[in-house]
Amino acid sequence: METYNAQRKRKIPKFAQRWLTDEKFKLWIEPVDTDNTLFYCKVCKKNFLCTSRVSRHANSICHLRNYKNLSANMDNDIDNSHKRKYQSFQPRWLEFDDSFRLWLCEPPSDAKNSSFFCRICNKSMAGDLAHIRRHAECDTHVTYLKNINEVMNMQDVDESSLPFDVRKDIAEIRFRALILDKCISYQTAGAILQFFKNVGKDPNILANMKMEPPKRSIRISNVKCGTD
Ligand SMILES: [Zn+2]
Ligand SMILES: [Zn+2]
Repeated sequence: METYNAQRKRKIPKFAQRWLTDEKFKLWIEPVDTDNTLFYCKVCKKNFLCTSRVSRHANSICHLRNYKNLSANMDNDIDNSHKRKYQSFQPRWLEFDDSFRLWLCEPPSDAKNSSFFCRICNKSMAGDLAHIRRHAECDTHVTYLKNINEVMNMQDVDESSLPFDVRKDIAEIRFRALILDKCISYQTAGAILQFFKNVGKDPNILANMKMEPPKRSIRISNVKCGTD
């Protein structure tokens, strides 16, 4: 009996991301953070098993009645419930998907009413796991990630033959990937970029710079030239 139950359990359909963008469901459906075999209906204010078929639920008498009761106020109600749902960053969100670790983190302290921060988009946002999952699928975020993968997997490309704009994009993407990989804050990265922009005014210096600073003492006052 137990084996049968275990088998049944494995076959329980899980929450499908596409429901969040499906016109028929997206206004009222939400995933349940703690259990991916459930969905939450904002109209009925209840969790339901994904086995009970989302489309069937959408047409069920109880859902339609609740939907009607909410009537014209429904949009406001859903908006407000979003606002009420503001919560602080939860480290367990990182465990939901391995790929989240690359970009998801606690928002900076000056980002008021934010729940999480995307290091790829450099953006603080409010919401819960459902919002994070939605963000992970938004166009800007997906494009950033795609670009990073594209550049990091570049092979046998003669970069000098590429147009200036593309070479600049590649450099920016490489820098962004480095920031992500080394967990450098966006603010620190900005300061580093500014530093190298200054040094790079003389590309010869930039090309010859090493990590170790010179051991010999330098006397800048003696070599100073100009109008004294
Ligand atoms: Zn419902
Ligand atoms: Zn993002």
